[in-house]
Amino acid sequence: MEEIRETAKAYYNNLTEEQKFEAKEMFLLMDLDEDGSISASEYVKGFKSCSNETVFEKLDENGDGMLDFEEFMSLYYLFKSNRLVFCDGHGCRAFLDGVFFTCVDCFKNASKSFDLCSCCFSNKSYTHMHSTFLDNYMLLRSIEASNKKIGEEVEIFEVEIFESTAEVFNSAAELPDDCDCDCGCGIM
Ligand SMILES: [Zn+2]
Ligand SMILES: [Zn+2]
Repeated sequence: MEEIRETAKAYYNNLTEEQKFEAKEMFLLMDLDEDGSISASEYVKGFKSCSNETVFEKLDENGDGMLDFEEFMSLYYLFKSNRLVFCDGHGCRAFLDGVFFTCVDCFKNASKSFDLCSCCFSNKSYTHMHSTFLDNYMLLRSIEASNKKIGEEVEIFEVEIFESTAEVFNSAAELPDDCDCDCGCGIM
């Protein structure tokens, strides 16, 4: 989450005055009782379908149950950049605020991405029709590489992942004895 906070801040500082105004306007719009911060219920009303308790708790850095403008900046960034991503692993739905794995096929061709927290991915706790996954950083590099047409190295890496994950396709989730991740996947 710290990374998201920093990213959001860095982006915000680089916005034009007009864009900053737009962000401020959205904040004011969500702040229904105009007390200068967004409560959990104002957040739920503002975000409806994509509101998520875990996200609110993570955004609320000082834990006072309200989002001040600085905390709201992270939400604005997540919203604008389509980064409100949740794990599609079996019964997980963890908010993916750090490294996550995404299906390359769905990312390139489908309207909705298929994403996994590292815990669900490494424990194979998912069922999906495709088997090529990359973490969000590798994905970025593979796009960059294919744009530059020097994708050979990345291509090979993709194939390796394909081969290693192909056999787990459709296999039932094998839950490990212990998983100490805090992704909320229920494996404790
Ligand atoms: Zn897919
Ligand atoms: Zn998960």
